[in-house]
Amino acid sequence: MTSRRADAKSVERHLADVLTLLPVLDAETVEVTEADGRVLAADLSARWSLPGADVSSMDGYAVRVADVPGVLQVAGDVPAGGLPPAAVTAGVTLRVMTGAVLPAGTEAVVPVEDTDAGVTQVRVLAPTTAGAYVRRAGEDTVTGALVLPRGTTLRPAQLAAAVAVGHAQLAVTRRPRVLVVGTGSELVAPGVRPGPAQVPDSNSVGLAAAVRACGATAVRIGAVPDDPAALVAALDGAANEHRADVVVTSGGVSMGAFDVVKAALAPLGVRFDRVAMQPGMPQAWGRWRADGPAFLGLPGNPVSALVSFELFARPLLRNALGALARVPVLRVRTEAALRSPAGRRQLLRVVLQRTDSGGWLARGLGGTGSHLLTGLAVADALLVVPEETTEVAAGTELDALPLPGWAA
Ligand code: AMP
Ligand code: MG
Repeated sequence: MTSRRADAKSVERHLADVLTLLPVLDAETVEVTEADGRVLAADLSARWSLPGADVSSMDGYAVRVADVPGVLQVAGDVPAGGLPPAAVTAGVTLRVMTGAVLPAGTEAVVPVEDTDAGVTQVRVLAPTTAGAYVRRAGEDTVTGALVLPRGTTLRPAQLAAAVAVGHAQLAVTRRPRVLVVGTGSELVAPGVRPGPAQVPDSNSVGLAAAVRACGATAVRIGAVPDDPAALVAALDGAANEHRADVVVTSGGVSMGAFDVVKAALAPLGVRFDRVAMQPGMPQAWGRWRADGPAFLGLPGNPVSALVSFELFARPLLRNALGALARVPVLRVRTEAALRSPAGRRQLLRVVLQRTDSGGWLARGLGGTGSHLLTGLAVADALLVVPEETTEVAAGTELDALPLPGWAA
């Protein structure tokens, strides 16, 4: 056992192998209103400057600095969306609204709070300085400037910025199409009450959601029984029908007598490796057809399947999207002492609590068994215990990988 562990493949090596399976996919054009969560396929530059003109940052009066404090004639109003009807000259002001284009001759804006709010004549009570409450044209960005680099994931602020600088359509990377398949003769469809020897196919539902959380599209097909010929036929048929870029299976990759994925796909060239991690040691990867989709065969135990997805499938899909790496790692402190196996990177389910000093405390969720799915379901993150570490004292600082949606 010890020697078999010693020759296990490193997590980094396995990830590097998996990342070779797919290039960055082609670009397509989408409406900005439909682009939430997509990844920019090209640099996005400003088509015009922001702000487009010198504008007011307050409701107030456009003035010359030398005229205030004092009483000024109000030559008109500039509402947002309107152009100034007159210029600011000695002793003359215009009433301006937030965002309004400033009249020629404006040196500063006096907020309405610093005046008597007059309509035809106004008394300004306080002095001002040049540029006060003035937003200069191009202060945010200028025509032609890079606003968002390719690889940016479009979230609310990025979508708003894209529109503000003139883009109604965006070039984004095509979403990877992922086929998700559970394997095992014990599996029954979600919602079916399992017999004593049966298990609901929970992996394919969880994995399909994990695929979508990466910005890819998921197609789930019903579980395939432990019959190698049936598995190859099912994968060929569904991968073809759905034009899958990636096929993700769970189960059937280890040493069991009926490990269907191994029996079916090892002879076709898929690699079966033992990766130095827990959970999730057995991992399959490659292609079963030379010109076919990328293949990831994740282990069947429910925690192993989802943890393996986060470590390998997520980077594969984000890479295929051309997404700029944004590794969401937190530094956390362990609440209690713990032990970890030598030679394997352990990923422990933890709940995170904010501490008074502003850090994070990681509280373990009991067992490490890879079948303990409900613990994963209430976890915030996976605590990473490095390969060489076998004992961790309470209060030790370690990395933690937030689980999808944790920030929400
Ligand atoms: P296997 O690697 O196929 O031997 O599966 C390991 C364990 O994971 C077994 O207890 C399976 O019943 C369970 N398992 C496999 N596939 C799934 C699935 N799709 N959903 C839930 N549990 C599964
Ligand atoms: Mg199985």
